[in-house]
Amino acid sequence: MTLQTNPFDDDKLREECGVFGIIKSDSAAAMTALGLHALQHRGQEAAGIVSFDGEHFRSHHALGHVGESYSSETVISRLVGSAAIGHVRYSTTGETALRNVHPLFADFDFGGFSIAHNGNLTNAYTLHKQLVKRGCLFRSTTDTEVIIHLMAVNNKGTVIDRFIEALKQVEGAYSLVALVNNMLIGARDPWGIRPLVLGRLGEAWVLASETCALDIIGAAFVRDIEPGEVVILDGKNLQSLKPFNKVPRRFCIFEYIYFARPDSMLEGHSVYETRKQIGVELAKEAPANADIVVPVPDSGLPAAIGYAQQSKLPFDLGIIRNHYVGRTFIQPTDRIRHLGVKLKHNANRRFIEGKRVVLVDDSIVRGTTSTKIVEMVRAAGAREVHMRISSPPTKHSCFYGIDTPQKEKLLAHNYTVEKMTRFIGADSLAYISMDGLYRALGEAKRHAGTPQYCDACFSGDYPITLTDLDTNEIQGQLSFLKIKKVGE
Ligand code: AMP
Repeated sequence: MTLQTNPFDDDKLREECGVFGIIKSDSAAAMTALGLHALQHRGQEAAGIVSFDGEHFRSHHALGHVGESYSSETVISRLVGSAAIGHVRYSTTGETALRNVHPLFADFDFGGFSIAHNGNLTNAYTLHKQLVKRGCLFRSTTDTEVIIHLMAVNNKGTVIDRFIEALKQVEGAYSLVALVNNMLIGARDPWGIRPLVLGRLGEAWVLASETCALDIIGAAFVRDIEPGEVVILDGKNLQSLKPFNKVPRRFCIFEYIYFARPDSMLEGHSVYETRKQIGVELAKEAPANADIVVPVPDSGLPAAIGYAQQSKLPFDLGIIRNHYVGRTFIQPTDRIRHLGVKLKHNANRRFIEGKRVVLVDDSIVRGTTSTKIVEMVRAAGAREVHMRISSPPTKHSCFYGIDTPQKEKLLAHNYTVEKMTRFIGADSLAYISMDGLYRALGEAKRHAGTPQYCDACFSGDYPITLTDLDTNEIQGQLSFLKIKKVGE
């Protein structure tokens, strides 16, 4: 077993996750498995469920997709109890260790405590070092575990007091679900970077990263958990606390652009509508003399529909995606990533041949996808290829829970739009402007009033302090999940 001692030596950030929780349900584990299935797009590498029957906690953690790990009746029936929480997780490089798969669990003086996290803490490494000095023994290498130790070293007050005290010490993005003493707890960081919604299914309360996880179990959407809100659901009542200092709301704009499922509602907006509207704004800002609009499936689809409607150009599926391969981005090495694109997309030649094609995708990260797709469309006989991107250039890494490579690997960090056009081999390339993006979200322009979104990946304007990054001796990296090889 090789455990990496230097936690910052990998080129990736890798917390992309989805969370789910339910209390007072006679099939809590099965509901959680279904909820996680709907949230699979938020993390495909591992999934975990912890249930509680009022006395005992039971857990199942597995690498792989939810469907693979939780379709068996034996697994679900072992997860006894009317309350459960679950988590899907995505990490991109290195082997994922089972011990890092959420929900995490710890035995306290007050009983068992289980927690699952979506987001990324930006002072976890700093806190980790301090806690280790105080004698804490970490069992995983996830940032989330610092919350458990912060609760352990502070043994004053109720479990809720201790949880809140711990949260007051962490910095970064978190949407959390936790299970303790017959209570389901939900919490969102004060900026509200990651989503978390509340739902109701008969007598049961439900918490989930996105509304699509409520839909799958037939739960009604009640409301978003607010930024800085802690909710305590004991099966009967809902208690809401606002224990943190108020800061401007900065919901992650990339959830709208790429990450969330199009059938989800985020903060009162339909993700699908928003993506379509971005396409409309993009067509206004960056029209093209073309014959056909083609989405890069699936991520570019809604924006391409909006683009086609606004530009009054025909829309066609000129690229077909094979759904039986994972997201390109997940492939850990450049070689496989290149291969992955070919495995995933094929040109629909009859609709492309001889045409001037507008290709619409949501983002360019390293430029691998765009380069391959442009080449493929040209090989299928396109006369011209005009690439349109429904986000501003991705120039900065995300430290709050979206997987992006180090900024040096981001095409837009290194190149101007002109150079990128040549790099991907297109006849033209245009991105939506920041104001265009905000217009699509119903704002007059960026920061028209108080800041509303976190757009750090485009602007470099990071709302939450990057303590680990600023103070760490190893520059430029901030993932807290550091194991490369672990024999579990
Ligand atoms: P690249 O090939 O590196 O330029 O990546 C661009 C493609 O990755 C686009 O088609 C996006 O839809 C997709 N993408 C963007 N951000 C992410 C992310 N955080 N995780 C997975 N895929 C992404």
